[in-house]
Amino acid sequence: MDYTAAILAKLPGANKRDHGVSRLVKTLESYLPEDQLKTITAAYEFGAKAHAGQSRKTGEAYITHPIAVAQELAEMRLDAQAITAAILHDTVEDTTASLNEISEKFGNEVALLVDGVSKLDQIQFRSHIEAQSESFRKMMLAMIEDIRVILVKLADRLHNMQTLDALPTDKKKRIARETLDIYAPIANRLGINRLKEQLEDLGFKHLHPFRYRVLKAALKKSQGSQKQIVKKITAELDIAMNDEGVEGDVVGRQKHLYSIYNKMATKKCLLSDVVDVYGFRIICNDVSSCYQVLGIVHGLYKPMPGRFKDHIAIPRINGYQSLHTTLFGPKGLPLEVQIRTYDMDRLAESGVASHWLYKADEKSDASPQRQTREWLSNLDELQQSGTPEEFLESVKVDLFPDKVYVFTPDGDIMPLPKGSTTVDFAYAVHTDVGDHCVAAKVNRSLVPLRTELYNGQTIEIITTRGAKPNPNWLTFATTAKARTAIRQHMKNLRSSESIDLGKRLLDQSLKDIGLSLRKVGKVRFTEALEEFGLSKNTDLFEQIGLGERLAPLTARFLTGTNGEDGEKAASMVISGAERMVISYGKCCYPIPGDDVMGYLTAGRGIVIHRNQCGNLSNFRKQPEKWISVNWEKDIQRDFLCQIQTDTKNKPGVLAEVAAIIGDCGSNIEQVEVLGRHEDCSVLSFLLMVEDRLHLANIMRNVRKMKNVIRISRDCA
Ligand code: MN
Repeated sequence: MDYTAAILAKLPGANKRDHGVSRLVKTLESYLPEDQLKTITAAYEFGAKAHAGQSRKTGEAYITHPIAVAQELAEMRLDAQAITAAILHDTVEDTTASLNEISEKFGNEVALLVDGVSKLDQIQFRSHIEAQSESFRKMMLAMIEDIRVILVKLADRLHNMQTLDALPTDKKKRIARETLDIYAPIANRLGINRLKEQLEDLGFKHLHPFRYRVLKAALKKSQGSQKQIVKKITAELDIAMNDEGVEGDVVGRQKHLYSIYNKMATKKCLLSDVVDVYGFRIICNDVSSCYQVLGIVHGLYKPMPGRFKDHIAIPRINGYQSLHTTLFGPKGLPLEVQIRTYDMDRLAESGVASHWLYKADEKSDASPQRQTREWLSNLDELQQSGTPEEFLESVKVDLFPDKVYVFTPDGDIMPLPKGSTTVDFAYAVHTDVGDHCVAAKVNRSLVPLRTELYNGQTIEIITTRGAKPNPNWLTFATTAKARTAIRQHMKNLRSSESIDLGKRLLDQSLKDIGLSLRKVGKVRFTEALEEFGLSKNTDLFEQIGLGERLAPLTARFLTGTNGEDGEKAASMVISGAERMVISYGKCCYPIPGDDVMGYLTAGRGIVIHRNQCGNLSNFRKQPEKWISVNWEKDIQRDFLCQIQTDTKNKPGVLAEVAAIIGDCGSNIEQVEVLGRHEDCSVLSFLLMVEDRLHLANIMRNVRKMKNVIRISRDCA
């Protein structure tokens, strides 16, 4: 084509050294329109300039590598954006070119693809444990938002494997191992057979060079001697299909080396058992022809029992579809036959990639995410004839995982539920790490503990010996392990506070009758514990503190002075710091300075009420549950308190009142409109105040306002 020649003539160095680009353009022009070819050659010029002066370990100019990667994808007929991204995939990492530049010149989507590939390059695989490989694969899949990123990455790895010879042996082996552990399984997972087989054979070649050579030679030899038989069987199959009027192609099939090696290793069989099997593939126009061909084949040769598999009705987990059967061929030689449609054959070769095959008249504006979902739903349709649901589920889980994968500082991979924070990570490492964590680093910089984690990050937790979990963490910790541990700690905290309170209550009650804990004596105390069925004195204190046992009765029990009335009870002093075991009535909102009473509630400790509280009469029936309490001086915290105002119905009144309250140093927690009449509104405020003085000051200032008719503290 003249056009191609024109483009090629213009390229820098085109005549001297071509970098493989003319072959690429020839492949592309078979399916891409001219304007897209122009973009791709522009990408070549851009890339060649950016990589100028760099060379591969093989000695070739660096640009030959991205062009080879693009070539691989072009042979899979991928779209222009994927090809462009393949040509540019190393520019951002290895040259001075920036993502912005790429975005400007080649569009945002290409830039996103290049960025995705660079990000995958940054995560490092460090260990070879199998479970770790599995997590690493999942992490890579979880990191990509556009499946084309992984296609470029797989093609990149393929070319690196093809040019591995230039590297030292230990490096070769490490990369080969990684390819077999990570990349080939990903290609398999996505159903891209053509990449999977090449990656496996190259991985095998560099990891076990000797075994590879022996096997290769043996296979070559047997294939030479098989030629005649293959030809004969192919002809027989062709004739039989012709007689029945079924169209289809019959091809002799070569197995790839790694699958033969694996079969020998796992099934412990001899080379001859594996290679002396003849493989055929028959490709038909439609599904019904496939089953027809199956019938023809089974009529021609006797099928081996138990070897027939219907992967058309029940596709493999990666979407692979085909009929498999094994026959007794001429002279009893086993024949393995695969039967499938052309569509199934293409899907078997390209898997997920087949969705990005360039289609000339189809302008899709769907996002990559949506396109992948479409691919998945296609698979869903393919296998509606009652196949295991795990199929679709597992592909979905890999591409749209509900997990994030992060690294520990040692390079271990930790899967966590999506939305997990550094605290969840800390508890996932160990409960002790969670309990003592004080700070966290993500990719070596300090972050707040509530920071959400993303794929591929490295997390480090900083702990301190004396540190304790913070109840606040419950607002952002998401994993069950973290939440349970934090709650357990709260319970322990509550228990220690209850013990403290119970001890004070009992001591108080003892003082009321002229005694004290010390004066009771160990012997009597132990006796009492036994009678209560308790083993430790802290158990008794805790029960009293939680209101499950009454202090005055216990005091009398300890002294043996049952039932004597008349002592004037002294008061217990509360400081407001006993948050776990003392709470404040939501009916009357007591604040320091108020006259108050404490009411023992089983399981909740003491609830403080104002003496005027309307609910008090209900409680009066159980006088033994009342304790006299007093406020400590100089309490250092704010208390909730409720006030009610009647205001004129003027615009902005609420804001005015709120402003005055704010000016008095109080926070409004809640506002409620209790009633609205023609010219007057009743508003209720829930405020934070220090004490009665503070409240009085607020009320005085609000009362002064000209739109306020009335203010009071007493609520329903
Ligand atoms: Mn590369």
